[in-house]
Amino acid sequence: MIRTITFKLQLPDGEATALLNTMRAYSTAFSMSAQWGFENRSWNKVENHKATYKAVRESVPDLPSSLVQSARDCACEVLKAAKCETLPERKPLAAMRYNQRVITVNLIYGIVTIASVQGRIKTTFPISEYHRQYLSWKVTSSTLSYDRRKRVFYLHISMEHPDMEPVQEVKVLGIDRGIVNVAVCSDNTFFNSKRVKNVRSKYAHLRKELQSKGTRSAKRKLRKIARREKRFVTDVNHRISKQIVNSDYTVFALEDLSKIRVKKRRSKSFRRKLNNWAFYELEQFLRYKAAALGKQVFLVDARYTSQKCSVCGHTYKGNRDGSSFRCRRCGFQLHADLNAARNIAQAGISGLSRLPVNQPNVTCL
Ligand SMILES: [Zn+2]
Repeated sequence: MIRTITFKLQLPDGEATALLNTMRAYSTAFSMSAQWGFENRSWNKVENHKATYKAVRESVPDLPSSLVQSARDCACEVLKAAKCETLPERKPLAAMRYNQRVITVNLIYGIVTIASVQGRIKTTFPISEYHRQYLSWKVTSSTLSYDRRKRVFYLHISMEHPDMEPVQEVKVLGIDRGIVNVAVCSDNTFFNSKRVKNVRSKYAHLRKELQSKGTRSAKRKLRKIARREKRFVTDVNHRISKQIVNSDYTVFALEDLSKIRVKKRRSKSFRRKLNNWAFYELEQFLRYKAAALGKQVFLVDARYTSQKCSVCGHTYKGNRDGSSFRCRRCGFQLHADLNAARNIAQAGISGLSRLPVNQPNVTCL
């Protein structure tokens, strides 16, 4: 499993200049190697090194030699990809790749040291709780990019994690995603969204006010609010998914919301659900967090999960009334979302047991 995380670097002016000059020098080294390879129709790194190294060192004496090599390797790779048909070009401030000798990243303290034309630059980046999951990952490569408009450097760190052995035990948890409750689990856990609701209605109110204004600054504010709201929901999804995957359960059953769209079986409430990207995001977060633990997400048919009785199986629209569920046949009563979550868990269990490939036996709910 490989993932890339991006950090904004906080740099004082002098060091930003040093990094910009490093990027320019790197591009010069790249161009010289590219030029030689193009003229000699060769993407051989050793030959290129022999032919260009001295000249490159002379023209950009402050560029650390490992970056000279990195630029040369990069040029040879581009030459190879184009079979030397075109001269590889590079913008002076294009993103540059660092190998692990010229950059060190400390994910615990959020410190990075980067080789530059003015020696090593040590800087910090904000490390969040979310990033702590990557502490055990191995950094494979890093790329430094520069946003000219914002005048900001970004560090993209690629990390590798050995794929976890799949957990053998199967313990299925059904999860119902919703508007009122962000998630309700078949083990009676409610991820209540009172705070989410408050925040969202606050934003909705603000949005309405700004929309009626219609001025340019109102529009700008609207976009800002939308971004903030999205960040808030993302944060909630991260926390919920983390708590869920760290439970004893090993398989997380969710409704397959994509199928409903295809089948055009969407009621008004489902459309609301579908339009809500937060649902999809929660699924993605659950997926990769579960995978990191050798656990899995399993999608089940979403039809009737809210109308079906989780005890006797009686499926009837009138069983559900808002947040309460009462079976017209056996009289079973439960919170409607919890009843749905139990149906999802059951669907997950029967779905898993139908899978042919050496799936372990399903033992418990
Ligand atoms: Zn029933």
